[in-house]
Amino acid sequence: MTASANATTNPKSPPTAPPLPPSTRTPEPADRLSTRATLRRCILWVVIAYVAGTTSFFLGLTANEASPTAMLLGILLYGCFIGLVSSSGGFQRRLQQPFVARAFKIGYGIRLAACIVPGAAMAVDMFPGMLAVIAGETLEREVGFGNFASTLGSTLVQGTLINILILLVVTFVWLLQKMSMEWRPPVRDVRACAGCGYHLETLAADTSAICPECGRTNEGLNDRRAWIDRASWLKFLLVVIASGIGGILVQGGTFFVFG
Ligand SMILES: [Zn+2]
Repeated sequence: MTASANATTNPKSPPTAPPLPPSTRTPEPADRLSTRATLRRCILWVVIAYVAGTTSFFLGLTANEASPTAMLLGILLYGCFIGLVSSSGGFQRRLQQPFVARAFKIGYGIRLAACIVPGAAMAVDMFPGMLAVIAGETLEREVGFGNFASTLGSTLVQGTLINILILLVVTFVWLLQKMSMEWRPPVRDVRACAGCGYHLETLAADTSAICPECGRTNEGLNDRRAWIDRASWLKFLLVVIASGIGGILVQGGTFFVFG
């Protein structure tokens, strides 16, 4: 005998739970991104990390006699790490929750804004930078690390501390939304037909599909993908590297003028 049948025949049993409210269509759980998309995210985050780390790089070089190769390697490793994490299936699935996606956009958006505003990066990096220097000195003195290894350790400590700070902002923004917002923005179905919204199961990034409902030909997911995935390799690299060089020049210029 099923629970619902039991409820109708036995008056003593507790009432069955009310039916769930109708929900918006949620997409299937996201997979990890393709190799191409992952590679682009790694490149993007490495460039961002170099721009963000320009001030700390010059500070380390002039004030702490840190190894420049170790700093460059540490920043490279950290950028790749963030690129890989942001492309993973686990992270992509979390991004499907609108509050989480918005919290990450705001948290890392503030970080990027700090890279653009001269002097802001210096302020953001100051406290983590001081702790990182202490960590590097401790490694050198207590563990017996050489200049290269202790600089690498110190650079990774600084990257971790800055990302912990950003994640605190992300958590705070997420909590604010959770507490104050009842309404949840609808999750957009990336395989929805552009004409009528019918869910096209076979539509993938590089394929086209004719909608059985309205007959419209949908060209892959191209028009719905972010610029980073849509642009050609040449365009992507030109824009990212040119922006990176611009950012490094601004950061470096600010450091030498005011630092
Ligand atoms: Zn359609």
